[in-house]
Amino acid sequence: MTSENGFEEIHVLWISEGMSCDGDTVSVTASGQPAIEDVVNGLIPGLPKVHLYNKVLSPTVGGEEFLAPFRAAARGDLEPFIFVLEGSVPNEKINGDGYWSSFGNHPDTGEPLTLNWWIDRLAPRAWAVVAAGTCAAYGGIHAMAGNPTGCMGLADYLGADFRSAGALPIVNVPGCPVQPENFMETLTWVLRHAAGGAPPPPLDDMLRPQWIFGRTVHEGCDRAAYYEQGDFAKDYNSPKCQVKVGCWGPVVNCNVPKRGWMGGIGGCPNVGGICIGCTMPGFPDKFMPFMDTPPGGSLSSMMIKPYGAFIRRMRGITNDTLNREPKWHHDREVLTSGYDPRWRP
Ligand code: SF4
Ligand code: SF4
Repeated sequence: MTSENGFEEIHVLWISEGMSCDGDTVSVTASGQPAIEDVVNGLIPGLPKVHLYNKVLSPTVGGEEFLAPFRAAARGDLEPFIFVLEGSVPNEKINGDGYWSSFGNHPDTGEPLTLNWWIDRLAPRAWAVVAAGTCAAYGGIHAMAGNPTGCMGLADYLGADFRSAGALPIVNVPGCPVQPENFMETLTWVLRHAAGGAPPPPLDDMLRPQWIFGRTVHEGCDRAAYYEQGDFAKDYNSPKCQVKVGCWGPVVNCNVPKRGWMGGIGGCPNVGGICIGCTMPGFPDKFMPFMDTPPGGSLSSMMIKPYGAFIRRMRGITNDTLNREPKWHHDREVLTSGYDPRWRP
């Protein structure tokens, strides 16, 4: 259904049968601003009415009842819809005599319908296509070196030039799992765009929302002052900068230390977890072994050490001074504050 400017109702078809752990769906249920319930219940002004089909959040008993809207959309009988993929896309051209991943069976033959079969039919008809999590965006853990499935991200499968029926590129919201509000905020922007109330979401060249992934972990980290002072943790029990125990934050695009994980709390390095670059196209291979010092981290931490040690000492002296009250705060029988009666009006 359309209004003058955009859609009044829209379907969200969410398939998590990519190579995944379903962690992105679970993560998104924790979103508070906005909550997925608020979007589905129409509590966010300016959005179309949303019909969500996600197996974890489905009120159906599953089976054909759950599959019905997906089958209808694949036939072209359900629109408009946003197609959300969770999990990486296996290469069914190299599946031997079997298949890597399926979603329902063919009603006539009973043969499994592969994820790729669904993508081929849903993606071109979708008003927008959204990749939830790093696996769907860039392949993620399943696509690491040595994997047997040849799996990949959605843009690898559909092509970087893919455009949806709504003329949008794929919208990637990476994270392993995706940070709840990062996903819901992006989906809300896409929905607002669908309603005709917002321009398309601005994306970077890896198809990520620019306003979410434009800064590094390091630029938002609670521990960044320790880095600047050349004060580094030697183990995971320390509150200091973790670059020497495996943190890749200075070169990773992610807002989690600023945003937190749930309700603003957490955010990997803030709470003692090294950043392993889970939002990045090069994850995980380019960040392994996870707990070793990143190669660039050795050099930068070595260079900042003498500067940081000097600055830390100077700040210590100043801090000591500032922790003392001015010398004229006393109860002797003489005023030493510098008060000069000549300046009285
Ligand atoms: S813990 Fe990581 S992100 Fe935080 S200041 Fe150190 S290197 Fe940067
Ligand atoms: S801080 Fe690093 S490990 Fe944590 S979510 Fe962001 S990219 Fe992933």
